[in-house]
Amino acid sequence: MSTEQTVIGKSVEGRFGPYGGRYVPETLVYPHEELAAAYEKARNDAAFQHEFDQLLRDYAGRPTRLYFARRLTEKLGGARVYLKREDLLHTGAHKINNCLGQILLAKRLGKKRIIAETGAGQHGVATATVAALFGFECVVYMGAEDVERQSLNVARMRLLGAEVCSVSGGTRTLKDAINEAMRDWVTNCADTYYLLGSVLGAHPYPTMVRDFHACIGREARRQFMEAENGGLPLALFACVGGGSNAIGLFHEFLNDKEVALIGAEAGGRGTGLGEHAARFRGGSQGVLQGTFSYILQDEHGQICPTHSVSAGLDYPSIGPEHAFLHDLGRAEYVAVSDQEALEACQLLARTEGIISALESSHAVAEACRRVPGMPRDRAVIVNLSGRGDKDMGILQRELQL
Ligand SMILES: *Cc1c(COP(=O)(O)O)cnc(C)c1O
Repeated sequence: MSTEQTVIGKSVEGRFGPYGGRYVPETLVYPHEELAAAYEKARNDAAFQHEFDQLLRDYAGRPTRLYFARRLTEKLGGARVYLKREDLLHTGAHKINNCLGQILLAKRLGKKRIIAETGAGQHGVATATVAALFGFECVVYMGAEDVERQSLNVARMRLLGAEVCSVSGGTRTLKDAINEAMRDWVTNCADTYYLLGSVLGAHPYPTMVRDFHACIGREARRQFMEAENGGLPLALFACVGGGSNAIGLFHEFLNDKEVALIGAEAGGRGTGLGEHAARFRGGSQGVLQGTFSYILQDEHGQICPTHSVSAGLDYPSIGPEHAFLHDLGRAEYVAVSDQEALEACQLLARTEGIISALESSHAVAEACRRVPGMPRDRAVIVNLSGRGDKDMGILQRELQL
């Protein structure tokens, strides 16, 4: 079975305009329905929410701070810049929010074996972390090429007790790992939970993963209003890989029409297909990994290779809700190049003493571009989705440190 081939299932709930849905082979319809029903019950269950909130607070470290970046603001000379510090969470990024929500759901479903797929290994590490916390078995699929490139994350997962399964078929990267994880799920769905890492995949994943990250925007909105005498930000900035940290921040502000929502995609090293991962610049509608969205594909519908200096943004599809927000004009998506992200990372480090992940640096870069043109009596929020420790090797090479 290849997840790249569109196996048209029934059109079901979980649509964002025309996007989203559930395009999965027959054998995976039941596990998705079972999950959707369990999630529907959990989201209306005060005990589930309470347990989730407690884990977010005591284990992950929520609420994260909304920090006023004074020196960066002075340097840019425009609107004031606030940083939402998801980089301060346990494991160093927002991914833990979603993993905690889903592991709780797995427990409710009575599934004690967790599988996941990972590219650079960040989602694998977050998944291995929560599996260890709950004492569940964990298998992480990873392309053989990525296993070699990301040996530190492989070691982290193994230290946490996870089994890392190296996939040597195909291009030996993420999409092959996804196919392998799907094969596992089809075979073992009775006792196995598939823990997906972003607002991707078939319904209910995009909705569920968004809800698990919505705490980012709820906190930010409250914190901002406290800091700014009840006002609202002029704009929100977030990087967009699959789109989970961005939608987590945006969601609570969707009805505040005066707040601009700006997503930064990976502009990579050029505008040609294969040189970037900007789905709204060169992408077209299609199905990948169970959901209808914008994808980077060639004229035959084959998935294009992508490139980004930041592994977390290096993905050919984007969450279906972003596709809808894009078409509606409610959110705006821009491509930020590798070089711009690297420079923004350095600027933030030197003005604020914060080393941001290269993914998050894309959001910082777009904010730096726009903030000087915004009034000084207004303010914006930039989502710092993660910290840069994991990127030190790349930063060292690219910035000649
Ligand atoms: C994985 C990752 C991302 C990209 O994922 P989204 O689902 O788009 O949020 C962004 N930032 C960091 C730090 C990540 O680890």
